[in-house]
Amino acid sequence: MSAKPVVLITGASAGIGAVYADRFAQRGHDLVLVARDQPRLEALAARLRERDGVNVEILRADLTQQADLEQVEARLANDAGIGVLVNNAGTAAAGTFVEQGAEVVSKLIALNATAVARLAAAVAPRFAREGQGAIVNVASVLGLVPEYHATLYGATKAFVLFLSQGLHVELGPKGVYVQAVLPGATRTDIWSHAGKDVNELNGVMEVDDLVDAALAGYDLRETVTIPPLPDDQQWKTFEAARQAMAANFGQSKPAARYRATAAEAK
Ligand code: NAP
Repeated sequence: MSAKPVVLITGASAGIGAVYADRFAQRGHDLVLVARDQPRLEALAARLRERDGVNVEILRADLTQQADLEQVEARLANDAGIGVLVNNAGTAAAGTFVEQGAEVVSKLIALNATAVARLAAAVAPRFAREGQGAIVNVASVLGLVPEYHATLYGATKAFVLFLSQGLHVELGPKGVYVQAVLPGATRTDIWSHAGKDVNELNGVMEVDDLVDAALAGYDLRETVTIPPLPDDQQWKTFEAARQAMAANFGQSKPAARYRATAAEAK
């Protein structure tokens, strides 16, 4: 094993995850690549072994399937060599919430939310015990914008952002780094999976630029990295407003506006 921690990347067969694999291999990390498409994973692994001389292992898993998820959880919990988890696997769904239906709701939440939380939960106790490690969760700017008509997908990404911020609060003091990455529209296959043509969108980032920016945020130990946001003061202002509001949540009585309404209703 090399001195650098092994990086386990989910959704490494394509798009953002494949570029994370490329960049961590370039940095000299051994890798464990997780996804369903074994031939694509094998082609990537062969290229990185050859180019960077790193060890690349493939763990084929469908993270919406219980047995496969458990296999990845066990690896994260028990392999002391793994020091970085990149929780990247995720998908989008075609249609509006009204059109999507129960099966799509379950599948999207299983991959984008449940698997992310369960893999973080599998590795967090070990990282906390060891006082080191990093968890990178790929969320999305859509988790901040309900107005963009991606209700279910955005809700899963809001979950990932909250999970990351909560884990930062809980694990940061124990020496574990947690990062949420919020890409905007990025040129990958996810768009065609959702029945959309990426070429019809404005402001699409190339996937190499996205991951390089995310890794710049990683190196800075940012908790939340939003590669497309030009002025990060906007995020800081948003966070400050949220925290100022939170200071007012502990009240023994409902707010005056609701007391007035209740009295009128009697
Ligand atoms: P992508 O090109 O479609 O890649 C998705 C990856 O997830 C693939 O490696 C895919 O591999 C894997 N995956 C899909 N279903 C899986 C399953 N059931 N079990 C295991 N792995 C599975 O999409 P991407 O754009 O790179 O997305 C990566 C992450 O970025 C996602 O979390 C996405 O929500 C987020 N994101 C993307 C954008 C964007 O515009 N592209 C914007 C914001 C956030 P297999 O098919 O081989 O399993």
